[in-house]
Amino acid sequence: MQKYRVGIVGATGMVGQRFMLLLKDHPWFDVVCLAASASSAGKRYEDAVAGRWAFPAEPIPEKVKDLVVLDGADVEAVAAQVDFIFCAVSLNKEETKALEEKYAKAGVPVVSNNSANRHTPDVPMLIPEINGKHAEIIAAQRKRLGTETGLISVKPNCSIQSYVPALWPLMEFEPEVVMVCTYQAISGAGKTFERWPEMVDNVIPYIGGEDEKSENEPLKIFGHIEGDKIVDTNMPRISAQCLRVACSDGHMAAVSVKFKKKPTMEQILERWANCDANTATAGLGLPSSPEKFLTYFEDPSRPQTRLDRDIYNGMGITIGRLREDPVLDYKFVCLSHNTVRGAAGGGVLGAEYLCKMGYIQHRV
Ligand code: NAP
Repeated sequence: MQKYRVGIVGATGMVGQRFMLLLKDHPWFDVVCLAASASSAGKRYEDAVAGRWAFPAEPIPEKVKDLVVLDGADVEAVAAQVDFIFCAVSLNKEETKALEEKYAKAGVPVVSNNSANRHTPDVPMLIPEINGKHAEIIAAQRKRLGTETGLISVKPNCSIQSYVPALWPLMEFEPEVVMVCTYQAISGAGKTFERWPEMVDNVIPYIGGEDEKSENEPLKIFGHIEGDKIVDTNMPRISAQCLRVACSDGHMAAVSVKFKKKPTMEQILERWANCDANTATAGLGLPSSPEKFLTYFEDPSRPQTRLDRDIYNGMGITIGRLREDPVLDYKFVCLSHNTVRGAAGGGVLGAEYLCKMGYIQHRV
């Protein structure tokens, strides 16, 4: 198959570097163009990341070492080389929105890891297994932006990527109230223990903006398309507390749920066990799809962050400890890998879905 030519805008950053590793041997995607800020432009990639390559155990892929970094603001130069881009830049919301729209209007599909467009009503926020069909809104978005081939698609925040997948197969029971507490790894802040020694043996009960993202983003994912926009659902009501804990990778969530139509414990376990056939990605053969979307552990001491975050190359979700809740109906815990499923890996899966469904095509 002819590979898609991929650009990474924000290639020198933490997320950009993770993309580089994930795409090293990708069967569909070939990284051909790297862009960053004007201060990196003109440098070989290896020189541009000298002293800040974040993965000491994994070298910079040979294929990209010598690529000369372009200025991400030079949309024409990037657009001339690529079929689509991944975008992960450290700009403010208005600047990020403007940059992503500029690329889309130039005909370039943008698969974004930035938060700026998450609540733009005609931009799909994809967890492909759950709401892949939201990509249908792209027709309306293209009309607004005046482009036939460009698009913007985003992925949600890493904090929600364990409990939203666990709730999704239970939506038929109409969850009304969800109380969730997340225990989030330090890599979510772009940090390691060496660079953040204060986190050793510590918990910090505040991550700026995270409670609100965790309460609001699921409502768009569970929403529906109405005309030219995605309308948020108004159920369940979610209350979230997000804590930073002393783990390197892996976001855990402890969840309590009250349903309008209370299921039995057996029904919940059955829905989790058999949800794969109902995903929007079933049968598509996407390279980054996990073999199994949700894995439930009978062992009450699982999932554990160190043991279970890497399941299915970090793209699977694990769940455990389902039991009755004395206040709401049920409670359980769940886990996902925040920098793979929750970040670059989720972006790659989204791009694979958009290619397979024909939203992203070869531009030349
Ligand atoms: P980072 O390490 O600070 O890297 C920022 C990148 O943006 C660098 O490559 C930088 O280039 C580039 N950049 C800055 N200004 C630019 C411009 N005007 N045009 C083009 N590129 C520009 O940040 P990060 O941690 O990778 O985060 C990047 C984005 O991903 C942010 O929006 C962040 O919120 C998001 N993020 C998402 C998740 C997630 O789970 N979805 C996780 C972490 C981060 P230079 O090196 O040349 O300065």
